[in-house]
Amino acid sequence: FTEDLKCLRELPAKTPDGFQVHLYANIGLLADTEPSLAAGAEGVGLYRTELPFMVRDRFPTEEEQYAMYRQLLQAFAPSPVVLRVLDVGGDKFLPYFSIREANPFLGWRGIRVVLDHPEIFLTQVRAALRAAEGLNNLSLLLPMISSVSEVEEATRLVRQAYEELENEGIEVAWPCMGAMIEVPAAVYQVEALARRVDFLSVGTNDLAQYLMAVDRSNERVAGLYNSLHPAVLAAILKIVEAGRRQHKPVSVCGEMAGEPTATILLLGMGVDNLSVTAGDLPRVKWVIRNFSQQHAKELLNRALQEEKPEPIYQMLCQALDAAG
Ligand code: PEP
Ligand code: MG
Repeated sequence: FTEDLKCLRELPAKTPDGFQVHLYANIGLLADTEPSLAAGAEGVGLYRTELPFMVRDRFPTEEEQYAMYRQLLQAFAPSPVVLRVLDVGGDKFLPYFSIREANPFLGWRGIRVVLDHPEIFLTQVRAALRAAEGLNNLSLLLPMISSVSEVEEATRLVRQAYEELENEGIEVAWPCMGAMIEVPAAVYQVEALARRVDFLSVGTNDLAQYLMAVDRSNERVAGLYNSLHPAVLAAILKIVEAGRRQHKPVSVCGEMAGEPTATILLLGMGVDNLSVTAGDLPRVKWVIRNFSQQHAKELLNRALQEEKPEPIYQMLCQALDAAG
């Protein structure tokens, strides 16, 4: 079975009725590059840049970041690499940057931290823009967006970094810019956000956590955490439909994208891109190649009638069994 999955490497992530999904890899450290390429990733859909920051004992300099990003962008060029700007706070801490709060998931996290520390943001963006020189395969992704002002402020800072480099005589390309949709407020403003960026990326790990008020790292409430919860599905559908109306591609990059059951529903919704860990990539591609979008839409419509996650899960497992 694993051998069969390996043969999938060269085949496109296309349904039998011709719906093509781009299948990207989630990456944390440069060590993830080889397994992702070996699994047939069409690019990087989520580079969690906080990971290389977390394994150090101080902030990496612009030069150190440049070297890392260059290596990654080069390894995947000409395929796209979505570099998410530093997303610390919540459950991710830097040993050299203290954040102590009673409710870290509701606190100083993601975009909030880097907008309060523009020097961290500017250094990272400068390094990333320089690293893409001549390759032009860089997208920047903004984490934990909860208002349009944050997107505007971050875009202004990217422009500042871009102009600084221009003034220094370094020719860089303007990057694609995307917003993570992972906070309920962003779901309700998804059209306004979509108008301000080039693409949307659904962070289902946080979106499910915040929609259901279930701490994603708390074992005691883990039983309540379910990405097939009808509220989570309704939110994702709303995001995908908004992206379609605004002609902006929608990616799903949370762990949910790597679960074959959920893949079926995301196919039915018509997501443009899925980004998953290298280990999950072959089976997700198998699902895409074995379910027509028509069938996925039928299963999605049935799922959307349900009021609880359990029957949705049962139905999807049965469909997977029937497909072999
Ligand atoms: C998410 O929230 O779904 C996501 C992809 O980001 P992270 O897991 O790094 O918060
Ligand atoms: Mg997240």
